[in-house]
Amino acid sequence: MPVIETEEHKALRAAVAALGGKYGRAYLTRTAAEGRHPHELWSEAAGLGYLGVNLPEAHGGGGGGISELSIVLEELGAAGCPLLMLIVSPAICGTVLARFGTEAQKQQWLPALADGTRTMAFGITEPDAGSNSHRITTTARRDGTDWLLTGRKVFVSGVDIADATLIVGRTQDARTGRLKPCLFIVPRDTEGFRRRPIDMELNAAEKQFELVLDDVRLPADALVGDEDAGLLQLFAGLNPERVMTAAFAIGMGRYALARAVEYARERTVWDAPIGAHQAIAHPLAQAHIDLELARLMTQKAAHLYDAGDDTGAGEAANMAKYAAAEACVKAVDQAVHTLGGNGLTREFGLASLITAARVSRIAPVSREMILNYVSHQTLGLPKSY
Ligand SMILES: Cc1cc2nc3c(=O)[nH]c(=O)nc-3n(C[C@H](O)[C@H](O)[C@H](O)COP(=O)(O)OP(=O)(O)OC[C@H]3O[C@@H](n4cnc5c(N)ncnc54)[C@H](O)[C@@H]3O)c2cc1C
Repeated sequence: MPVIETEEHKALRAAVAALGGKYGRAYLTRTAAEGRHPHELWSEAAGLGYLGVNLPEAHGGGGGGISELSIVLEELGAAGCPLLMLIVSPAICGTVLARFGTEAQKQQWLPALADGTRTMAFGITEPDAGSNSHRITTTARRDGTDWLLTGRKVFVSGVDIADATLIVGRTQDARTGRLKPCLFIVPRDTEGFRRRPIDMELNAAEKQFELVLDDVRLPADALVGDEDAGLLQLFAGLNPERVMTAAFAIGMGRYALARAVEYARERTVWDAPIGAHQAIAHPLAQAHIDLELARLMTQKAAHLYDAGDDTGAGEAANMAKYAAAEACVKAVDQAVHTLGGNGLTREFGLASLITAARVSRIAPVSREMILNYVSHQTLGLPKSY
């Protein structure tokens, strides 16, 4: 793995940063206020090949990996306009379909996910399972050649704008015990598939939904891959999700830090700009170091994943997501503080990042569950639950 970023990756960063600079935070704030998807940015990013940069060339993608897609998300975030659905549509759903989908599913979905004309959401979280996905109860039973899917999901992002949602369930034969997941493509307007927006205190363009699936009838080919593929198939999507959430957090942290540094260079209330006071400068320097370290781990996780090492990528992706979320929360907190009262004004637009930054600490897997994973899997400590 190259520790120093390749020239291609640097060029990709610069190109995406230029696109992000055209839109910026003001654009994303506007789309959120208008309650709509940032489709202008989504379409332009698609046209430039950024949305499908990780998807196979044979199916309309760029032939890269999560390394490249995470650069796209980080740079859009650093410009103030991250696209949350990048985590879900090309990273989770696109990867699972590319690795495990039938040829027909690949042809139907991958070119459209890559060119941005279709989007796919991803639903695993359930109200009574939460962090413990072994407890999910969304169940698929056979009816002739069809499937009937019943269950509930919460906090699923972007279901309103997605053409379909990839729902994680379990078959009736495997409805108890350790999770043996199976994944179904559920088109948005399928009968019995209902959604209700959750009122989130997030200033974001993407909405979260509670979903009810009430005997949703699906054809046999709605099942992705093999009903016995189990956790391997699920983690093919969850590890990219963690890497991408890390990139999302690093981008946001960089955006907040840059605003704070600009401000601290100019704002003068004694004889020197406030950035000359070490109580302001040092926490900003620490935030920068933490973000750089988190990025290094994110690059390692992405590299392992792209190299086909699912086990190594699992551990690294967890650590990267943890480090990036903590670095982001601290950077945003320090940025708001650096601006004093202005840190809480709408004009400067940093205060709303306080809640946004917390998302990466909670989702898709919480800080505590990552610490549990490292305690048990890496350090071999006993489990309390
Ligand atoms: C903005 C946003 C977008 C989201 N988008 C999606 C999406 O698109 N699709 C989707 O499926 N889900 C999505 N989620 C859901 C997200 O993945 C979950 O919120 C997350 O997995 C945590 O589950 P929970 O909210 O049920 O918390 P809980 O599991 O109830 O946990 C609550 C608290 O208890 C702690 N805790 C739980 N168990 C333990 C333990 N054993 N040891 C120590 N601490 C523990 C947790 O760390 C957490 O702090 C989204 C969430 C948010 C906020």
